[in-house]
Amino acid sequence: MRAIDATRLYFDRAADRIDLSENMRQLLLTAKREISVQIAVELDNGEIATFIGYRVQHDDARGPMKGGLRYHPEVDLGEVRSLAALMTWKTAVVDIPFGGAKGGIAVDPAKLSPREMERITRKFIDGIHDVIGPDVDIPAPDMGTNAEVMAWIMNQYQKYHGFNPGVVTGKPVELHGIPGREEATGRGVGHLAFKLMSRLGRKAQQTRVALQGFGNVGSHAAKFLSEAEFKVVAVSDVSGGYYRPEGLDIPKMLQYAREHQSSLQGYTEAERISNEQLLELDVELLVPAALGGVITAQNAPRVKAPVIIEAANQPVWPDADHIFDQQGTVVLPDILANAGGVTVSYFEWVQNRQHYQWGLNRVRQELDRVLSDSFERVWTVASERKVSLRTAAYILGIGRVGRATILGGIT
Ligand code: GLU
Repeated sequence: MRAIDATRLYFDRAADRIDLSENMRQLLLTAKREISVQIAVELDNGEIATFIGYRVQHDDARGPMKGGLRYHPEVDLGEVRSLAALMTWKTAVVDIPFGGAKGGIAVDPAKLSPREMERITRKFIDGIHDVIGPDVDIPAPDMGTNAEVMAWIMNQYQKYHGFNPGVVTGKPVELHGIPGREEATGRGVGHLAFKLMSRLGRKAQQTRVALQGFGNVGSHAAKFLSEAEFKVVAVSDVSGGYYRPEGLDIPKMLQYAREHQSSLQGYTEAERISNEQLLELDVELLVPAALGGVITAQNAPRVKAPVIIEAANQPVWPDADHIFDQQGTVVLPDILANAGGVTVSYFEWVQNRQHYQWGLNRVRQELDRVLSDSFERVWTVASERKVSLRTAAYILGIGRVGRATILGGIT
């Protein structure tokens, strides 16, 4: 299955529930603008390399379009399209005044020097600076990009348009960024895990967690889950899985990763398992926080966790989601579960417009409030309409975008 078909399927399931007309579906599904630009750069060895950069601007009915930039070898237009649409529903579910967009470059950051990354980023912005902006479309970090890349984006954009820090979020705190943005997605996952498990009548201490991914989202999620006294028994990264039935020492693993180029490779105080085995562990909570499409109809029947929190974008394919629906597995969908990142991006954008620096406590407090309110709304829609949390989140998101579209008028 392609990512775009997955997004469409989830959309249709909710659209059927609210009797959305075919014309309206067409309007909400079609991207407003899709850009693809050539990025030709000179590599450090003097050779010329050519990449393609994409930016899909899906919808702006509720505000400027918003979404990350992904640097990964598997990026293509279809994937970016699907992730851009997810951003539209995500910003609507948490009710922040943004639309949805996403961008990416098919490149492997591990094979590039920092200078090469910088040249590619600046060339990309040369190609798209006219169609992004603080009131138009605001990029942010995603897989393979970080605060440093955001600083280059801001700097390159400003060469054309003057001082404008609100053109991009996820910037370094020293350069118009906001404290708490880097941890935000992981913190949100931890906060929502706590809310969801309490709602299901389970205490954190009785909840064993398997967490796939130890990058920005996974490592911060692990930190917040362990601080909230969840029993994290397995984590993984590209080097494989690490399992300890009595619970892993998360602070120690975070320290280890910091000292080993963000990798757990060589960590010995746990049993080694594969990434696939991790997904099938006997735990109460499974948190996929890495790539999309990791749980399909093939492995879904072997997933034992009764609760799944989608910290990554699209980790559960619709055919697997259908199986989970039938067997009563609760799935907290990506468009709510990982919305902490874009929510704090919104605070950063507000901070840039206010020219007033926010403090970490305020960021955390407001993030927790936005996520708690959104969780309650989604939970209520799910209970009232007797649908899954995913369909409820889509109903809420599609409803808000649909209403904004009609109110704005189509002439
Ligand atoms: N890339 C993140 C996401 O998928 C964050 C987007 C943003 O902060 O704009 O939600």
